[in-house]
Amino acid sequence: MAHYDGTDAAVGDFGYSKFGDDRLREECGVFGVFGHPDAAALTALGLHALQHRGQEAAGIVTYDGQQFHSERRLGLVGDNFNDAGVIGRLKGSMAIGHNRYSTTGEPALKNVQPLYADIDTGGFAVGHNGNLTNALTLRRELISSGAIFPSTSDTEVILHLLSRSKKRRMVDRFVEAIRQIEGAYALVALTNDMMIAARDPIGIRPLVLGRLDGATIFASETCALDMVGAEFVREVENGEVVVVTKDGIESHRPFPRRPARPCIFEYIYFARPDSVIGGRSVYDIRKQMGVQLAIESKPDADVIVPIPDSGVPAAIGFSQQSGIPFELGIIRNHYIGRTFIEPEQRIRALGVKLKHSANAGVIRGKRIVLIDDSVVRGTTSKKIVELMYDAGASEVHMRISSPPITHPDYYGIDTPRKKDLLAANMDIEAMRQFMGADSLAFLSVDGIYRSVGFDQRDPRAPQFTDHCFTGEYPTELVDQNGTGFRQLSLLAEVV
Ligand code: AMP
Repeated sequence: MAHYDGTDAAVGDFGYSKFGDDRLREECGVFGVFGHPDAAALTALGLHALQHRGQEAAGIVTYDGQQFHSERRLGLVGDNFNDAGVIGRLKGSMAIGHNRYSTTGEPALKNVQPLYADIDTGGFAVGHNGNLTNALTLRRELISSGAIFPSTSDTEVILHLLSRSKKRRMVDRFVEAIRQIEGAYALVALTNDMMIAARDPIGIRPLVLGRLDGATIFASETCALDMVGAEFVREVENGEVVVVTKDGIESHRPFPRRPARPCIFEYIYFARPDSVIGGRSVYDIRKQMGVQLAIESKPDADVIVPIPDSGVPAAIGFSQQSGIPFELGIIRNHYIGRTFIEPEQRIRALGVKLKHSANAGVIRGKRIVLIDDSVVRGTTSKKIVELMYDAGASEVHMRISSPPITHPDYYGIDTPRKKDLLAANMDIEAMRQFMGADSLAFLSVDGIYRSVGFDQRDPRAPQFTDHCFTGEYPTELVDQNGTGFRQLSLLAEVV
């Protein structure tokens, strides 16, 4: 789910929070429970496990057989859904929940999911992970035919399309709506008598189905099933619509069958390492990316240092493959609050190391191999290389366990525009100089596929979408129109 607030800040800072920190906007997480007396409490726990997919806001909608209940809050799940009062108000045995990124501030509350609408069949709530690549176009069409959009979220078009459908059965309305949308979606929806889960025709974003005490659970990742003690049953397949009612589970296939193309970046960065996607442990694959990177570009060095937390599994693999010892040469402070992220420019200029500190004892006088999973703008790498030299490193070799990100993502990651992507504007040598490292190497695209366990050239191997590295986008980019960026200016007119 993306949103467009049409403001200068959103346009200028696109891809980054307004707080001046280095975080990119992230993805979203969805969770659903059908048929459990503790539906809301389980959903809060599931969302907590999916917190890494979006930290700006969270929401839960439940249905108790008579009424829908909704709590949507800005901030972390644990800070908002931890008291019995909130959970107690979310009555019912059916619940869906959503974690999101967003810019913050009161106006953003209108975009916090699950989105809810009363339509002529009753209530309908939906949570969305992904991003629709024709939402702006649909939104303009809907507005010109009289629709009013309270939110500025791409997801809202789904509610409008569903509401306008003339089909009688809810599942047919839902299918009619999703046939009109393009892009990436893992959806969990709730009505008066059913839960619907769906993945886009190529399954770009993950979604799994689990079971707990006879209840059906949906979650973006298996780590959320583990959190509530649910058993993993299977993934919701690409192009599948799963409908759960009191009579059981039905699977619908409204799209022509196509091979799945899940996003490779889930393995590289997004998913939690303890999740299993496509039958493969994310942790094992990240470690393997480190192994592969060491095979491709091992420097002479004394110690492997991960940039925590994202570089840790690859650094372990790199160390195992290269025989160079692994050390925690950087300590990450996990408790940076907003207050510290917004310090005065004066304080920032002092170079306060808010997030990472050097563990000087393992750095001083050593040739360091720094490992991270990805380079987006290059800010993190540049800062950490400097940190290593300040701590007395004699050489710093930067190794990245994914290929250079040369193209923006339009499927829910919100990487910055091309002009802000370091690798879209510099070759490897220029990036090395920018970072100030002694050497720099990235894992090859081939290496990524090998790490996932396939030879990319094998036509029988499962495919992924790797558009960030190759520019090969797997769906139509209707709104982007080849400009390389979504048309925010259009929304500035209509919002
Ligand atoms: P940058 O500093 O802009 O080069 O960003 C790279 C750092 O951000 C790496 O440490 C990655 O682990 C992390 N990263 C990569 N993609 C994302 C994302 N979409 N959201 C948040 N962090 C990310």
